[in-house]
Amino acid sequence: MTITKNRVVSIDYTLTDEHNNLLDSTLGGRPLDYLHGFENIISGLEDALEGRSAGERFSVHLPAAKAYGERDERLVMEMPLADFKDIENLEEGMQFHAQSPEGACLVTVTKIEGATVTIDGNHPLAGMNLNFDLTVTAVREGSEEELSHGHVHSGAHDHGACGGCDKSCGEGGCGGCGGY
Ligand SMILES: [Zn+2]
Repeated sequence: MTITKNRVVSIDYTLTDEHNNLLDSTLGGRPLDYLHGFENIISGLEDALEGRSAGERFSVHLPAAKAYGERDERLVMEMPLADFKDIENLEEGMQFHAQSPEGACLVTVTKIEGATVTIDGNHPLAGMNLNFDLTVTAVREGSEEELSHGHVHSGAHDHGACGGCDKSCGEGGCGGCGGY
């Protein structure tokens, strides 16, 4: 069975940047399951997976523009420390969800200096050229329910950084800001 729209795909992947630094990997964990053709994963990856079948192993190089986009410096903001008084143990590197007009987005605290906190709403991988080493481990037809929800229902992946299923099924859908 080949990968095409409406099929559930399981992949093992290792993600590295252009300097071969390891950024993320499913090795040692479970494969990533996603519903193909529903923008569950970045489009550059979906394009590369289209037509492949279980057992295939290959690499994809994606320039930033085709991965998580270029960085947008307008998403870097300085805010008064007082605005964060409800957050315990605020520290650099901390990530949290913030509401934006485009939905819930993951924001990273990049600097705390005096009474000023700098936050960055860019995806942590924005502006980076990425390399994915991929193995397709399984392909199956999506169920009717999965297709109506637009995401996979078994083995929810753990990168559900954005939103969640608006159908209240408890699965971490990834709409919002285009998480993994
Ligand atoms: Zn669902």
